[in-house]
Amino acid sequence: MTDTVKLKINQQEIECDKDLTILQAAKSVGVTIPTICYHDHCTSNALCRICVVEVKGARTLVASCVAKVSEGMEVETYNERVNRSRKTILEMMLSTSDLSQSPELLEMASEYGANNDRFGDAERRSPSLIDDNSMFVRDYEKCILCWRCVQVCAEDAQYAFAINFKGRGYHTQISTFYEKPLPESSCVFCGQCIGVCPTEALKPKRQWLLELGYESDQIMQMTRNERNKKTKKPQTSSVVK
Ligand code: SF4
Repeated sequence: MTDTVKLKINQQEIECDKDLTILQAAKSVGVTIPTICYHDHCTSNALCRICVVEVKGARTLVASCVAKVSEGMEVETYNERVNRSRKTILEMMLSTSDLSQSPELLEMASEYGANNDRFGDAERRSPSLIDDNSMFVRDYEKCILCWRCVQVCAEDAQYAFAINFKGRGYHTQISTFYEKPLPESSCVFCGQCIGVCPTEALKPKRQWLLELGYESDQIMQMTRNERNKKTKKPQTSSVVK
């Protein structure tokens, strides 16, 4: 049995490894498909659906980050239907989350002609910023629930399992178990979640304080004080025998 398949991507005939996803196959011939929740070092989950493509004969659009190539497949990575779907996804994101610090997403929104006000009456996600440690802040108003931070904290990298989803449906949010402050969770402050977050919902504390206008020596003092406070040993009580 052969290990390669022949297919067409945007009318271009290609031959590639049968185990590739459509996204990988497209990339191998220089065709870029937009992605958001996908990350090269995370398990693909097809959550955001921005990478959908049209596959001839398929009833619905297909998420190219998880769908594998197959013999004789005919794929269109952009056409009216695909572009309309991407535009709508971006409009929904714009209506619910603060994307002001996500230049890549804003560029994508502009490229697809996404209308900021299409869902103007939608309820915005506006949880308060969480500042519970000296290393980073969590501003879930900017979160698009891409799941990357959860994955790198778990099996994709760190195996710390400090964060996961809480809530259901529209009220889903990333959180620690029992919503405990991060220093009381299994977080090891490796910072990998910050590295993969596409929206700056997770931000180094020092960067956040700089943006608020604090001077670097003030920041050093503030974060050092916090660390000392957190690491101060509790008073030992005498043991009654
Ligand atoms: S905090 Fe960032 S990485 Fe985590 S789910 Fe939200 S947007 Fe994605």
